[in-house]
Amino acid sequence: AGLRRSIIDPVIRRLAVFGRYVTSKEVRDLLRAIEAGEMTPIYQPIMDASGRRIVGVEALVRWQRADASLVPPAQFIPLAEGAGLIARIGELVLRRACLDTRDWAALTVAINVSPMQIQSEGFAAGMLAILAELDFPPARLVVEITESALLGDDPVVHRQIAALRAAGIAIALDDFGTGFASLSYLRRFRFDELKIDKSFTDGVDSSTDAAAIVEATVSMALALGMKVVAEGVERVEQHRFLVSAGVHYMQGYLFGRPQRAAEITARLAAHPA
Ligand code: C2E
Ligand code: CA
Ligand code: CA
Ligand code: CA
Repeated sequence: AGLRRSIIDPVIRRLAVFGRYVTSKEVRDLLRAIEAGEMTPIYQPIMDASGRRIVGVEALVRWQRADASLVPPAQFIPLAEGAGLIARIGELVLRRACLDTRDWAALTVAINVSPMQIQSEGFAAGMLAILAELDFPPARLVVEITESALLGDDPVVHRQIAALRAAGIAIALDDFGTGFASLSYLRRFRFDELKIDKSFTDGVDSSTDAAAIVEATVSMALALGMKVVAEGVERVEQHRFLVSAGVHYMQGYLFGRPQRAAEITARLAAHPA
């Protein structure tokens, strides 16, 4: 009976999950939006340390509804992950980003990748095929992953990261400091960049702890040959501290909110990179 249950249980569970999703109105809406082309990235500038020159952008997905309103990712990414739709959204965002940013000189373009995507064999090959198809230089692409993608030291993930890096794509560890095993991951995986989470940036001008963590992150990154990006920079005081700590790149509302491609194009025309 035990054996039979162990074979049947997972099947029933999968059917139950499947059944809930096919009947869920939210998932049907999401699928329709994907098919209608309503998933689109907007772009947030990433600046050099001085904060004066745009060196790249991060693509951030939005669900653009028929009335032109933009739904933030927190409201549909978890659902998309649960329903197995995140890879389709990821592909749409990548394709759109390659086309939107092609003419932005040598600016880098960072793409967020969900754990489920990088944990699937063939992810790197699929991404490289899209870049080749759209004639986008891999050296301009940055793939941002979070620590949760690295849990379990999965050989599939190792292979995807190695294949992307071999092609010249940079890998950034996003939300650095918020996981619980960051340091051991730095030995097992090679990263090109660490993105200091906004929760640390928030505190650098008020908390000596946050400031010490940022300083330690920079010296560790330098020793391991990585660059550091500070996320969520909102105040000049934070920027001043981050510069003194040696952070390489700055991102946050102080320098620019996520905006449509046309707005970045106009900004680049006014202040060529
Ligand atoms: P993230 O990768 O950590 O992205 C940074 C988030 O912080 C973005 O929120 C950005 O708009 C926001 N942000 C940037 N600067 C500031 C600032 O100075 N102050 C404040 N208060 N916020 C700032 P957003 O666009 O809502 O994205 C949320 C999360 O959704 C992202 O966090 C990322 O994890 C996920 N995401 C976004 N686009 C994609 C995508 O295409 N694919 C996947 N898988 N995930 C995505
Ligand atoms: Ca990110
Ligand atoms: Ca982040
Ligand atoms: Ca995040």
